[in-house]
Order: sequence, then structure tokens, then C-alpha cells
Amino acid sequence: MTLNDGSVIPQFGLGVYHVPADDTAGLVRTALQLGYRHVDTAQGYGNEAGVGQGLRDAGVPREDVWITTKLDDGAHGYDAAQRALDASLRRLGTDHVDLFLVHRPGEADVETWRAFAAMRADGRVRSVGVSNFGRRGIEQLVDATGVVPAVNQIRVNPRTPHRGMRRYHRRRGITTESWGPLREGRLTTHPIARRVAARVGRTPAQVILRWHLQRGIVVFPKSADPGRLAENLAITDFTLSRREMAAIDLMRRWK
Ligand code: NDP
Repeated sequence: MTLNDGSVIPQFGLGVYHVPADDTAGLVRTALQLGYRHVDTAQGYGNEAGVGQGLRDAGVPREDVWITTKLDDGAHGYDAAQRALDASLRRLGTDHVDLFLVHRPGEADVETWRAFAAMRADGRVRSVGVSNFGRRGIEQLVDATGVVPAVNQIRVNPRTPHRGMRRYHRRRGITTESWGPLREGRLTTHPIARRVAARVGRTPAQVILRWHLQRGIVVFPKSADPGRLAENLAITDFTLSRREMAAIDLMRRWK
């Protein structure tokens, strides 16, 4: 997908939240060898070094892989954010990240955002965005700096589709990223997901992930299992019909 700053982000990737530091390099390597080209990490996950190691071990050129990381809550502010980015670059073993996000709103968001604009200008970061922000928080950043976040990473999935927020994103040209697209795996046992999956001859996880792709949302499900990594990746060779999409949309009405 093309972001509002012209960068092109792979719409599908691997999330590494809760992946232990010691397991991360192996997992990232396996995923990249399977064909993943986008990894979503964060300073707070404590596994950036493993992401960098996995990238080198896989032998995939750096420029072929999209790496997102997120600013730690304790590093808000102009100078602290800059230092925190440099520490991430050292851990990842790279001279730039493709996307740097403010992980959560906090204090001094405008000063932090000014630092993000500077990081983008000097090339250490290709795209800048936010996560878990609401409209007011985003408008405050744009009013102060004129820089519109390229993405907002929020907890969106068929159970909580955040339609209003996504309309706002579209109006502003902000790409929606989904965290927890499978609701930490729970949606894979939902009766609607099972029914649609049986109908199209796919797995519940695949139809849920496909729903996100067809709604124009960027996803990076986490899996520590090679079989499920491959399963989640295999979602580009089928399409859900309007009826199937509408059936999945009904999940939002389930108690
Ligand atoms: P997900 O919705 O991606 O679900 C992950 C869980 O689902 C794991 O327990 C995994 O188990 C299971 N799973 C994965 N694939 C399958 C499958 N095919 N069938 C059945 N179960 C499956 O949750 P996450 O919380 O990990 O979210 C994804 C990513 O979003 C994170 O890794 C992180 O990068 C990002 N995130 C960002 C946040 C933010 O505040 N910005 C907050 C939370 C997450 P197993 O490993 O055993 O396969």
C-alpha cells in the first residue's frame, strides 16, 4: 500500500510482541525465508536485536524488508526520542527504520512529534506514525507541525472494526494498521470465521486476515509456529465475496 508520504508498505507482515528475545532471531529468519517482508517490533518488546539478527541470518537484502519499531513510553520529548531512535538503530543493526511510531499518547506529544519530523528529514526514519491515538491527539500533532502521521496502529478487527476512526483516517489520508488482528488468536474459533472458512476452503485465521486486507488495513499477525506462519501468509490467492465479507462484518454484533 502507498502511504501519504509516498512510501510503499507491504500490507502483510509479522508481529513479534511477546516473542522472547532469545527466540526472535530464529523466528524472524524463518518468517523471512517463508516470504515475509515486514516485521513489526517495538522498543518495549525487548527483541529488536533479535529482529536485526534474524534479518542478517536470513540473507534477505535490508532494502527488501520493511521494519517498524515504536518509541518507548519512557522516551517521550525531543531529545529523549532522538536518543531512543539511535539506540534502536544500534540494536537492529541498521541505519534506518522504515516506520517509527509513537507507541502511545503521552506527555509532550508535540515535542516528540517534532523529533519524528526531524528523524524523517535526516533519513534515519522513512515514515513516521502513531499508535493508539484518537482524533484529538492526531489533530494536535498536525496543527502544531503540519506533519500528518502516515499510519495509526490501533486495535481493529472484525469484532471492533472502529468504523468511525477508519473514516477519519481515510479523510486525513492515514493508513490504518491493525494490532491483534486475530484478537490474540481468539477469533480463529469464532463460529462465523469457521463457517466462512469452511465455505471457501480456507482456515478461520486466513479468512479473518483476508478480511483485513480487503478492508485496506495493514496486518502483522504474530505466530511462533512455522506451520501457522505459513498459513497466515497464504492469503493472497483467494478473495472473499461481498457476502462473505458482510458475514464477517456481523461479528461486531456478537456479545
Ligand atoms: P494476534 O491477533 O496476532 O494473535 C496472536 C495469537 O494468535 C498468538 O497466540 C498465536 O499463537 C495465535 N495465532 C497466530 N496465527 C494463528 C493461526 N493461524 N491459527 C490459530 N492461532 C493463531 O495478536 P498480537 O497481540 O500478537 O498482535 C499482532 C501484533 O500487533 C503484535 O505482535 C505486535 O507487533 C502488534 N501489537 C501492537 C500493539 C500496540 O499497542 N501498538 C499492541 C499489541 C500488539 P502461536 O504463536 O502459538 O501461533
